Amino acid sequence: MTDNWKTRTALVHGGTARSQWGEVSEAIFLTQGFVYDSAEAAEARFIQTGPDEYIYARYGNPTVAMFEKRIAMIEGAEDAFATASGMAAVSGALTSMLKAGDHVVSARALFGSCLYVLNDVLTRYGVEVTFVDGTDLGQWEEAIRPDTTAVFFETIANPTLDVVDLEAVAKLAHAHGAKVIVDNVFATPVFSRAIEQGADVVVYSATKHIDGQGRALGGVIMGTRDFIRGTVEPYMKHTGGSMSPFNAWIMLKGLETIDLRVRAQAASALALTEALQGHPKVKRAIYPGHASHPQHDLTMHLMGKGGTVVALDLQGQAEAFRFINALKIVLISNNLGDTKSIITHPATTTHQRLPEDQRMSLGITPGLVRLSLGIEDPDDLIADIRQALDAI
Ligand SMILES: *Cc1c(COP(=O)(O)O)cnc(C)c1O
Repeated sequence: MTDNWKTRTALVHGGTARSQWGEVSEAIFLTQGFVYDSAEAAEARFIQTGPDEYIYARYGNPTVAMFEKRIAMIEGAEDAFATASGMAAVSGALTSMLKAGDHVVSARALFGSCLYVLNDVLTRYGVEVTFVDGTDLGQWEEAIRPDTTAVFFETIANPTLDVVDLEAVAKLAHAHGAKVIVDNVFATPVFSRAIEQGADVVVYSATKHIDGQGRALGGVIMGTRDFIRGTVEPYMKHTGGSMSPFNAWIMLKGLETIDLRVRAQAASALALTEALQGHPKVKRAIYPGHASHPQHDLTMHLMGKGGTVVALDLQGQAEAFRFINALKIVLISNNLGDTKSIITHPATTTHQRLPEDQRMSLGITPGLVRLSLGIEDPDDLIADIRQALDAI
C-alpha cells in the first residue's frame, strides 16, 4: 500500500513506527542504548542485528530509522543513512567508498566545505581529484577515465545556480563504471528525481529545507540497500557521524511540511525574479526556474522547478552591502531553505576562503548576493527587496 503513496502522503506517514502507546506524533527515543533480555540475546544481536533491533544510537535508533525510511521513500531510494550534518553526509559518502589510488572527477563550483573535503582531505589519503566546469559536458568527457571511481557535483551549484546535466554526466560516468554522487541540497527532495535520472548516491544537508526552520544540523546519504548497509553504515557507525535521535525527530517533523514550504518558496523565487527583470539596479537576477536562466529548459526537464534560491548580481560590493543593510524583512545570515528569507554575500562570507581569481571564474562576483526565499507573503518580500534596491 505504501508503494502507491504520493509524496505528500509519504511525507506525513512514511516510515512511522508506533510504540505500544500508539502515539500520533512520532516518538523521540532519546536513548543511547537498548536492554537485552539475556546475555544470549545480547550475543545474538551483535552477531546479526535484525530489523527493528538496535544496539547503540551511533549504529541506529528507532527515531532515526523513521527519518531514514521516510526520506528514502520520498527520494525513491532503496535505503538511507542519517548523519550528524550535511558535511558528515558528503564526507561519509565519499570516504566510505574511496581508497588510495582512486580517481574522482568533481565539478569546481562547490559549497566551500565540499571543496575542502575533495581538495584538501581526499587528496591527503591518495585519492586523485580532477575538477571540471560542471556545466561543460566536454570537460566531464575528457576528465572521466576508465579508472575513475566516482563523479561528484551539486545538481544546482551554490551560489551561482549553475545546473549540471545529471542525465548526461551519469551516462558518461556509468560508461566507465564510475559511481555518480550528487549533493542535491538546492534541488530539494521534493523536486529531485535524481535517482531515476542516474544518480547512484544522493546526499542532502537536512539542515536546509528538510528542517527548514533553522533549528538543527543533519544530513542523509541515500542509495542502494547494498551501498547504504554494506559501505556507508559500517563506515559511519564506526567513525561517529550518526544523527542524534532528537535531530532525527526535528527532521521528521520538517518533512511533514516540506512539500508545502518549498513549493511556496519556489513560487516566491519565480515571482521575485519576474519582478526584477530589467530593474536598473540589478545586472542579473539568476533563477533556474525563470525563462531568462541559460539552463532553464534543462532545469525544467530535470526538476520541474528552479528551487528556492535566487542570486542577484548587483553593481559591486559597496552596492551589495548597501542593499543588504537596507533590507527590513530579509535576514542577514547564511542558512538557506529556511521559512525566513535570508540574504548572504558569498564573496565575503561562505566563499571568502577562495582565492579571488577562483571566485571570479566561478561567477562569485563582488556584487553577487544569494537570496533564500522564505514562506513570508511574496508581496511583502518583493516590496522589501524593491525598497532596499532603491536605497543603493
Ligand atoms: C549547507 C550545505 C552543505 C553542508 O551542510 P551542513 O548541514 O551545514 O553540514 C553541503 N552542501 C551544500 C550544497 C550545502 O548548501
